[in-house]
Parts: sequence; C-alpha cells; structure tokens
Amino acid sequence: VRLFNSLLDRNQGLIRAMRESLDNVAHDLRTPLSRIRGTAEQALQAANSDPVTQAALADCVEESERVLSMLNALMDITEAETGTMKLRLATVDLCQLASEVVELYQYVAEEKNITVKTECPTPCQAQVDPVRIRQVLANLLDNALKYTPNGGQVNIHVRNTSGEAVVSVKDNGLGIPPEEQDKIWARLYRGDKSRSHRGLGLGLSLVRAVVTAHGGRATVTSAPNAGADFKVFLPLASVSPVLVTG
Ligand code: ADP
Repeated sequence: VRLFNSLLDRNQGLIRAMRESLDNVAHDLRTPLSRIRGTAEQALQAANSDPVTQAALADCVEESERVLSMLNALMDITEAETGTMKLRLATVDLCQLASEVVELYQYVAEEKNITVKTECPTPCQAQVDPVRIRQVLANLLDNALKYTPNGGQVNIHVRNTSGEAVVSVKDNGLGIPPEEQDKIWARLYRGDKSRSHRGLGLGLSLVRAVVTAHGGRATVTSAPNAGADFKVFLPLASVSPVLVTG
C-alpha cells in the first residue's frame, strides 16, 4: 500500500510539473508571438509588396492569432483553476446574457440552417462576472452549432431551481459517446469524431474552470447521435430582505 501510494504521489507530482511547464511556456510565448503578429500586420498595411508576400504575411497574422488565442485560453484556464482569476461579480440577468450570445451567433446558425430557441420562463438574476459567463455560454453555443448537422435544433433554457441558476444548452447533433463524457473537460482533449471540425480542445476546460471558480458546476448528458445537453449551475443573486412594516 505504501509503495502504491508513493507511486500515486509521484504521478501526481509529474502531472503537476507538466502543467506548470505548459503554463510557463504559454506565458513566455505570448509576448514574442504578439510582436510577430504586430510586425506582420504593419508590413501588410505597407501594401507595396507583391501578392505572394502579401499572402504570406496574411498567413502569419492569421496563424499567430490562432496560437495567441490558444495561449490566452490556456492561461485563463490556469487562472480560473488556481483561483487567481479576477472575477468582477455583479447581479446579472442570465436571460439577457443568453439572448446577447444567441444574437452573436445568429449568422453562424443561419448559415447551417439551425434553429436556436431561447426559453426563459422566469427572470433569472445570478451573481456572476458577466464577461466570463458570456464566454462560457458562447463556448457552449459555439460547440452546439459546430457539432449539430445542418437543419438541426438548439434549445437554450434558463431557469432557477433549488436555489441555483441553471442554463441548459441542448442540441440534437452528433452527441458524445459515454466513454468520452469524462474526458471532454480535459485541456486539449478533442473527441474522435470532432477532428474534422475546427477547434483547440480548450472550450469545455474553460467552461468548467470558470463555472467552478464561480462556485458552480458544469455537467453533460448525452448519447451518440442523440444530441448533447450541457448545463451550467451558478449562484443566484441574493435577494435583499423585504421590510414589512405596519
Ligand atoms: P473543441 O470543440 O475545440 O474540440 P471543446 O473543449 O469545446 O473543444 O470540446 C471537447 C470535445 O467535446 C469536442 O472535441 C467534442 O468531441 C465534444 N463536444 C463538445 N461539445 C459537444 C456537443 N455539443 N456535441 C457533441 N460533442 C461535443
């Protein structure tokens, strides 16, 4: 038992060290990459080069943008997981936030002829950082649209149940096999059937890390080819006590 425990400790230590190295690399790469992007952008604006050079520079800008967003997502996940992410908590109407995100993705949905329906039976005020939770909902809607074939349906449902705010993003797309449902939350994990779609494998890690940093949780229920239902549970805004007089 002692040997087994020390093996587990050692594995844990190695995993931690790997994570820390990844975080350090992400941190150190951000500045030079931003500089590369900036320089390429400047050269592109100079516009006195031939079309081949222009195309090469545009490629540089696009690729460095992609890697930068990956590094930023990695850093955000680490910050959220370690509790160093600064959350600017406010009383936020989740129905309003969900409609804003749906509006943002209207064009993508229309392109795939996917119907997005938002249901908000009652107002739902939560105590959250609106910027971060907008990012969470955007990641979930982005996935729902990405993994649902043309002509599909996505339903967003906002409600408060048992003292918690719950947002559900449900699609009728590819679904997730049971053996993948625990793995999808890990950094850089991409499902077998998802490799033909664009993505970095960081969206759901960020969702879970940010929601957990708010004291909430994120779950999924799904079956292959029967769609996926992602739910985030968040703290409700506390209602100030009503003074009864007379
Ligand atoms: P990405 O979408 O970039 O691959 P994510 O972290 O957002 O990364 O998702 C991880 C994996 O979870 C995806 O590769 C996909 O296999 C699966 N997944 C996420 N959302 C859905 C969904 N709505 N329907 C089916 N599979 C999904």
